[in-house]
Amino acid sequence: PDWPTSLVRSTFLNYFTSLSHHPQPSSPVVPLSDPTLLFTNAGMNQFKPIFLGQASPTSQLGQLKKAVNSQKCIRAGGKHNDLEDVGRDTYHHTFFEMLGSWSFGDYFKEEAVYYAWDLLTRVYGLEEGRLYATYFEGDEGLGLPPDLEARDLWRKYLPDDRILASNAADNFWEMGDTGPCGPCTEIHYDRVGGRDASKLVNADDPDVIEIWNVVFIEFNKDETGLKPLPNKHIDTGMGLERLASLLQNKMSNYDIDVFQPLFSKIDSMSASGPYGGLVGEDDVTLRDTAYRAIADHARALSFAIADGAVPSNEGRGYVLRRILRRGVRYGQQILGCERGFFEHLVPVVVETFGEAYPELVAKEKDIVEIIRDEEKAFGTMLDRGITYFDDLKVELAKKKRTEVSGTESFFMYDTLGFPIDLTELMAEEAGLTVDAAGFESEMKAQKERSRMDRKMKKMGASGQIVLELIAEQTSYLAKEMGVETTDDTS
Ligand code: ATP
Ligand code: MG
Ligand code: MG
Ligand code: MG
Repeated sequence: PDWPTSLVRSTFLNYFTSLSHHPQPSSPVVPLSDPTLLFTNAGMNQFKPIFLGQASPTSQLGQLKKAVNSQKCIRAGGKHNDLEDVGRDTYHHTFFEMLGSWSFGDYFKEEAVYYAWDLLTRVYGLEEGRLYATYFEGDEGLGLPPDLEARDLWRKYLPDDRILASNAADNFWEMGDTGPCGPCTEIHYDRVGGRDASKLVNADDPDVIEIWNVVFIEFNKDETGLKPLPNKHIDTGMGLERLASLLQNKMSNYDIDVFQPLFSKIDSMSASGPYGGLVGEDDVTLRDTAYRAIADHARALSFAIADGAVPSNEGRGYVLRRILRRGVRYGQQILGCERGFFEHLVPVVVETFGEAYPELVAKEKDIVEIIRDEEKAFGTMLDRGITYFDDLKVELAKKKRTEVSGTESFFMYDTLGFPIDLTELMAEEAGLTVDAAGFESEMKAQKERSRMDRKMKKMGASGQIVLELIAEQTSYLAKEMGVETTDDTS
């Protein structure tokens, strides 16, 4: 059968709905009322009060026993941050959809494992011989024993050599530094098949990927450690794009149907060739990395802005600004797109996802405008930054240096608007590193300077003289480095 992503999504929802799970809408990617969270990073976020026993028994949440949904997630900051992998691998996005199912104090491990197996093998028809399951091997630090119950449940469906013990880093799931958590069992899939791939599970191999995580939520983590919860819950999450890639017989998430309109649009705006589907380290693959990153970033920004976030200088807004600047840099420098290209991806995102997520349609105009302004603000700085960095590369090579200094990376940040992670990315592409500690101390010095600045301004005339002296010195230093100063930093 043919498995368009929309059918993969609806099949999941229908399967659990028919098992009396209540369909729940996706909550916004911008969490409404959780200060511990930058963006919604999992389907369970909106149910946190239920896990913690804080939902009033008469409220709608409090009455919920079983639920199912497809949740918009962004993992670009906080505990779950995949930004550095995005574009460079084939199965992490900053924005993705998580298919989720829940039991709130209702059924537990046995049913959860059975449903997962039944849905994947019978309904979706995945090949049994390519599936692997992991279970929590226990952890002394956490004071928890191995989850032999989960292991034994899998023995009903899988041979022992495809049931693997795994450590807390992979098999103890936590929402953030605090919050609901517990041991989990995960299902992994070998995209190649016909071999023993057990050594490749959880080994960053793009052909053996984690698809579904079934978490046994039993604890709340706070500053003092783990506390058992009043009830035991099931919380599952499966990456829609990953599952769709398997069902569509693709080796990469980015080869599934929903990314193709974005790739065609990028191709039509770029001066380089089309997407080739290559992953690795040479020039062609850098081009493909750019395609993947831009497509991903266009989705992330569109969804985040539709839910009310805006690019800015701090917190959540700065994550969006960083994502946009990465996307724009990939487009202009690597693909040769014209300045201002990025906003034209928004209508494609809306067209592709508007039916499932009507908020995109409702907010299309706002999204385009916000992105246009943000792109414009970065426009001239980007060109200057690219020139500056090209010159810097030559200079470093001459001096046999392989590290971009704190002063240089801070100049790119402060004067040219290059977030540090973007400079690091460009350095990596050039085989260079960045002195992160040096950058940090420049940041500190900068904060100190603006503190001084405020003090001096309060002092009036004499303070003004000191300020002018500082400004003079700054522009002298900048000239030394061969650049003009500007106060256009954001
Ligand atoms: P991975 O180990 O591959 O980074 P994870 O263990 O961090 O995944 P979970 O927190 O268990 O992921 O999330 C549940 C599911 O969501 C995963 O099994 C995977 O299918 C999907 N998923 C997680 N992160 C991403 C991402 N960045 N992009 C796409 N899908 C993802
Ligand atoms: Mg991860
Ligand atoms: Mg994992
Ligand atoms: Mg996982």
